[in-house]
Amino acid sequence: MEKPKQLIVEGKRLDGRALNELRPITMKVGPLKRADGSSYVEWGKNKVMASVYGPRETHPRHLQESDSAILQVRYNMASFSVEERKRPGPDRRSTEISKVTREALMPALFLGYYPRSSIDVNIEVLQADAGTRCTGINAASLALADAGIPMRDLVVAVAAGKIDGQICLDLEKNEDNFGEADMPVAVMPRRRNITLLQMDGDLSPEEFSQAMDLAMGAVDHLYEMQRTALMEKYRG
Ligand code: ADP
Repeated sequence: MEKPKQLIVEGKRLDGRALNELRPITMKVGPLKRADGSSYVEWGKNKVMASVYGPRETHPRHLQESDSAILQVRYNMASFSVEERKRPGPDRRSTEISKVTREALMPALFLGYYPRSSIDVNIEVLQADAGTRCTGINAASLALADAGIPMRDLVVAVAAGKIDGQICLDLEKNEDNFGEADMPVAVMPRRRNITLLQMDGDLSPEEFSQAMDLAMGAVDHLYEMQRTALMEKYRG
C-alpha cells in the first residue's frame, strides 16, 4: 500500500477506530491438546498460537540451572503470515522478539519451583498485521497459566504510537508503516510493573508520557480479557 494522505480523518483512523481504541480481540485458552498449555489470540488481523511445554527435563543438559527452571521462548512468523512470503526459519527479528518476550514473561514466573527443568514457550504467528510481539506476549501469558505454571501475575502487552502527529493506541500495519512512532509495553497488571518497553521512531518526553498513559489505560481491560479467557476454559 502507498502512503495514504492522512492516517486520521475527522478524528477516526483508516479502520474506523477512535485514537484510544483497541482492535477487536478474541482470546481462547487450551486449543492444543498435546501441549501442556496453549492459547490462540486474534488481535485485529494478527493471528497467533502459543504453546507451552514443561516444566520438563532440560536439553541440552549444560543449560540446566541447579536452583531454578530455565525459560526458553521461540517466536516464529509463518512464511504465509505476511503479504510477501517470508523466508522460513529464524532471523534477526525473530531472535530479538524471542529475547524480549522471554524477558517480559520471566518476572511473572516462579522459576525457582522447578530446579533443573525447562519451560518452553512457542509463539507461532499465523497472520501478521503489526503488533505481533504484543499479541504473542498476551498469548504466551495465557498458555503459561493454562500449563499451570505458578505465576505472580499474568502479563499484558499493548502498544501505543504516533500517527499524523497524534498519540494513538494499538497501531495496525499501515499506521506502523507510515506513522512516526510505535511503542510496545508489557505489564504485570496487579502492581503495574513494566516488563517490556521498546520504541521505534521518535516521541518528545510529553508525547512519551501521553503514549505511556494510553497504553497503561488499556491494561485493565486486557487483563480482564485474559482472566475471562482462562475462566472460560475451566468452566468447560
Ligand atoms: P510487531 O509485529 O511486534 O509490530 P515489527 O514492528 O517488527 O513487530 O513488525 C511490524 C509488522 O511488520 C509485523 O507485524 C508484520 O506485519 C510486518 N513484518 C515483519 N517482518 C516482516 C517480513 N519479514 N516480511 C513482511 N512483513 C513483515
